[in-house]
Amino acid sequence: MTHTKNYCGIAEDVGEVLIDEESIQRRVKELGAQISAEYAGKSPILVCILKGACLFHADLIRATPIDVFMDFIAVGSYGASTQSSGEVRILKDLDESPEGKDVILVEDILDTGLTLNYLISYIKSRHPNSLKVATLLSKPARRVVDVQVDYLGFEIPDQFVVGYGLDYAQRYRNLPYVAVLKTANQSSK
Ligand code: 5GP
Repeated sequence: MTHTKNYCGIAEDVGEVLIDEESIQRRVKELGAQISAEYAGKSPILVCILKGACLFHADLIRATPIDVFMDFIAVGSYGASTQSSGEVRILKDLDESPEGKDVILVEDILDTGLTLNYLISYIKSRHPNSLKVATLLSKPARRVVDVQVDYLGFEIPDQFVVGYGLDYAQRYRNLPYVAVLKTANQSSK
Protein backbone atom coordinates (compact mmCIF):
# COMPACT_ATOMS: atom_id res chain seq x y z
CA MET A 1 0.00 0.00 0.00
CA THR A 2 1.29 3.48 -0.83
CA HIS A 3 -0.02 6.25 1.35
CA THR A 4 0.28 9.77 -0.02
CA LYS A 5 -2.83 11.39 1.42
CA ASN A 6 -2.28 15.12 2.08
CA TYR A 7 1.47 14.92 1.40
CA CYS A 8 2.96 16.21 -1.84
CA GLY A 9 5.98 14.88 -3.64
CA ILE A 10 6.50 11.67 -1.65
CA ALA A 11 5.00 9.05 -3.94
CA GLU A 12 8.42 8.16 -5.37
CA ASP A 13 10.11 7.35 -2.06
CA VAL A 14 7.52 6.41 0.53
CA GLY A 15 6.08 2.92 0.33
CA GLU A 16 4.04 0.69 2.59
CA VAL A 17 2.81 2.15 5.87
CA LEU A 18 4.14 -0.17 8.59
CA ILE A 19 2.55 1.58 11.58
CA ASP A 20 -0.36 3.95 11.11
CA GLU A 21 -0.97 7.15 13.05
CA GLU A 22 -3.71 5.71 15.25
CA SER A 23 -1.57 2.72 16.31
CA ILE A 24 1.36 5.00 17.15
CA GLN A 25 -0.78 7.34 19.24
CA ARG A 26 -2.42 4.42 21.07
CA ARG A 27 0.94 2.81 21.92
CA VAL A 28 2.53 6.12 23.01
CA LYS A 29 -0.39 6.68 25.42
CA GLU A 30 0.18 3.19 26.87
CA LEU A 31 3.88 3.90 27.35
CA GLY A 32 3.10 7.25 28.98
CA ALA A 33 0.68 5.56 31.39
CA GLN A 34 3.31 2.95 32.25
CA ILE A 35 5.97 5.61 32.89
CA SER A 36 3.53 7.67 34.98
CA ALA A 37 2.76 4.65 37.16
CA GLU A 38 6.39 3.60 37.56
CA TYR A 39 7.67 7.12 38.30
CA ALA A 40 4.78 8.26 40.52
CA GLY A 41 6.14 10.72 43.09
CA LYS A 42 9.33 11.21 41.09
CA SER A 43 10.41 13.84 38.57
CA PRO A 44 12.18 12.06 35.71
CA ILE A 45 14.05 13.86 32.93
CA LEU A 46 12.99 12.58 29.52
CA VAL A 47 15.99 13.11 27.25
CA CYS A 48 15.13 13.42 23.56
CA ILE A 49 17.81 12.06 21.23
CA LEU A 50 17.67 14.58 18.38
CA LYS A 51 16.46 14.83 15.81
CA GLY A 52 14.66 11.57 15.13
CA ALA A 53 12.96 11.16 18.52
CA CYS A 54 11.44 14.66 18.55
CA LEU A 55 7.88 13.65 17.62
CA PHE A 56 7.89 10.57 19.87
CA HIS A 57 9.32 12.64 22.75
CA ALA A 58 6.75 15.42 22.32
CA ASP A 59 3.86 12.96 22.32
CA LEU A 60 5.32 10.82 25.13
CA ILE A 61 5.76 13.70 27.59
CA ARG A 62 2.18 14.80 26.89
CA ALA A 63 1.05 11.24 27.63
CA THR A 64 2.96 11.26 30.94
CA PRO A 65 0.92 13.39 33.38
CA ILE A 66 3.45 13.50 36.23
CA ASP A 67 6.16 16.03 37.08
CA VAL A 68 8.53 15.50 34.14
CA PHE A 69 11.47 17.53 32.89
CA MET A 70 12.82 17.46 29.36
CA ASP A 71 16.29 17.79 27.92
CA PHE A 72 17.88 17.19 24.53
CA ILE A 73 21.02 15.53 23.26
CA ALA A 74 22.17 15.29 19.65
CA VAL A 75 24.46 12.67 18.17
CA GLY A 76 25.98 12.20 14.72
CA SER A 77 23.51 10.72 12.24
CA TYR A 78 23.67 8.66 9.08
CA GLY A 79 23.50 11.79 6.88
CA ALA A 80 22.03 10.85 3.51
CA SER A 81 22.98 7.18 3.82
CA THR A 82 20.80 4.35 5.15
CA GLN A 83 23.77 2.47 6.66
CA SER A 84 25.29 3.08 10.11
CA SER A 85 28.91 4.15 10.14
CA GLY A 86 29.19 2.81 13.68
CA GLU A 87 30.61 6.16 14.75
CA VAL A 88 28.83 8.04 17.49
CA ARG A 89 29.73 11.58 18.48
CA ILE A 90 27.88 14.10 20.60
CA LEU A 91 26.88 17.20 18.63
CA LYS A 92 24.84 18.77 21.44
CA ASP A 93 25.17 17.86 25.09
CA LEU A 94 22.50 17.94 27.83
CA ASP A 95 21.67 21.40 29.16
CA GLU A 96 21.36 20.15 32.75
CA SER A 97 23.56 17.71 34.66
CA PRO A 98 21.87 14.29 35.03
CA GLU A 99 23.71 13.65 38.33
CA GLY A 100 21.36 12.26 40.96
CA LYS A 101 18.37 12.46 38.59
CA ASP A 102 16.05 9.80 37.19
CA VAL A 103 16.78 9.81 33.47
CA ILE A 104 14.82 8.23 30.61
CA LEU A 105 16.58 8.26 27.24
CA VAL A 106 14.02 8.62 24.45
CA GLU A 107 15.12 7.23 21.07
CA ASP A 108 13.36 6.89 17.72
CA ILE A 109 14.72 3.53 16.60
CA LEU A 110 17.10 0.90 17.96
CA ASP A 111 19.02 -0.57 15.04
CA THR A 112 22.56 -1.89 15.61
CA GLY A 113 22.39 -0.56 19.18
CA LEU A 114 25.66 1.38 18.86
CA THR A 115 24.10 4.79 19.47
CA LEU A 116 22.16 3.83 22.59
CA ASN A 117 25.01 1.71 23.90
CA TYR A 118 27.28 4.74 23.70
CA LEU A 119 24.74 7.13 25.21
CA ILE A 120 23.89 4.78 28.08
CA SER A 121 27.61 4.59 29.03
CA TYR A 122 27.94 8.33 28.64
CA ILE A 123 24.94 9.18 30.88
CA LYS A 124 25.96 6.53 33.44
CA SER A 125 29.41 8.14 33.67
CA ARG A 126 27.60 11.29 34.85
CA HIS A 127 26.05 9.46 37.83
CA PRO A 128 22.25 9.61 37.41
CA ASN A 129 20.13 8.13 40.20
CA SER A 130 18.56 5.82 37.61
CA LEU A 131 18.60 5.37 33.85
CA LYS A 132 15.99 3.76 31.60
CA VAL A 133 15.48 3.62 27.85
CA ALA A 134 12.38 4.26 25.75
CA THR A 135 12.43 3.61 22.01
CA LEU A 136 9.56 3.86 19.58
CA LEU A 137 10.94 1.21 17.22
CA SER A 138 13.38 -1.68 17.36
CA LYS A 139 14.87 -3.78 14.56
CA PRO A 140 16.11 -6.86 16.48
CA ALA A 141 17.53 -8.49 13.34
CA ARG A 142 20.08 -5.69 13.02
CA ARG A 143 21.48 -5.75 16.57
CA VAL A 144 25.28 -5.66 16.98
CA VAL A 145 25.37 -4.80 20.70
CA ASP A 146 22.79 -5.80 23.27
CA VAL A 147 20.78 -2.89 24.70
CA GLN A 148 18.19 -3.20 27.45
CA VAL A 149 14.98 -1.41 26.49
CA ASP A 150 12.49 -0.56 29.24
CA TYR A 151 9.75 1.02 27.11
CA LEU A 152 9.32 -0.28 23.56
CA GLY A 153 6.77 0.92 21.03
CA PHE A 154 7.02 -1.61 18.21
CA GLU A 155 9.38 -4.24 16.80
CA ILE A 156 9.77 -3.95 13.03
CA PRO A 157 11.49 -6.06 10.37
CA ASP A 158 14.85 -5.17 8.82
CA GLN A 159 13.64 -2.38 6.55
CA PHE A 160 14.65 1.28 6.40
CA VAL A 161 11.71 3.36 7.58
CA VAL A 162 10.76 7.04 7.58
CA GLY A 163 8.12 9.21 9.21
CA TYR A 164 7.10 10.25 12.73
CA GLY A 165 10.50 11.93 13.23
CA LEU A 166 12.55 9.47 11.18
CA ASP A 167 14.18 10.90 8.08
CA TYR A 168 15.87 10.05 4.87
CA ALA A 169 18.27 12.90 3.96
CA GLN A 170 16.30 15.08 6.43
CA ARG A 171 12.97 14.50 4.64
CA TYR A 172 9.76 12.79 5.75
CA ARG A 173 10.10 13.54 9.48
CA ASN A 174 6.65 15.20 9.39
CA LEU A 175 4.73 12.12 8.29
CA PRO A 176 2.39 11.11 11.15
CA TYR A 177 2.95 7.40 10.44
CA VAL A 178 5.97 5.09 9.95
CA ALA A 179 6.47 3.87 6.39
CA VAL A 180 9.05 1.90 4.45
CA LEU A 181 11.44 3.94 2.32
CA LYS A 182 10.82 2.36 -1.06
CA THR A 183 14.05 3.38 -2.78
CA ALA A 184 16.44 2.29 0.00
CA ASN A 185 14.79 -1.06 0.57
CA GLN A 186 14.56 -1.81 -3.15
CA SER A 187 18.24 -1.02 -3.76
CA SER A 188 19.40 -3.21 -0.86
CA LYS A 189 17.66 -6.26 -2.33
P1 5GP B 1 21.97 2.37 15.79
O1 5GP B 1 23.11 3.08 16.44
O2 5GP B 1 21.09 1.62 16.74
O3 5GP B 1 22.45 1.50 14.65
O4 5GP B 1 21.13 3.43 15.04
C1 5GP B 1 20.29 4.30 15.65
C2 5GP B 1 20.02 5.46 14.72
O5 5GP B 1 20.13 5.07 13.34
C3 5GP B 1 18.63 5.97 14.86
O6 5GP B 1 18.54 6.94 15.88
C4 5GP B 1 18.34 6.53 13.50
O7 5GP B 1 18.82 7.85 13.42
C5 5GP B 1 19.15 5.67 12.56
N1 5GP B 1 18.34 4.61 11.94
C6 5GP B 1 18.42 3.29 12.13
N2 5GP B 1 17.51 2.62 11.41
C7 5GP B 1 16.81 3.56 10.75
C8 5GP B 1 15.70 3.51 9.86
O8 5GP B 1 15.13 2.46 9.49
N3 5GP B 1 15.25 4.71 9.39
C9 5GP B 1 15.81 5.90 9.75
N4 5GP B 1 15.28 7.00 9.23
N5 5GP B 1 16.85 5.99 10.59
C10 5GP B 1 17.33 4.83 11.09
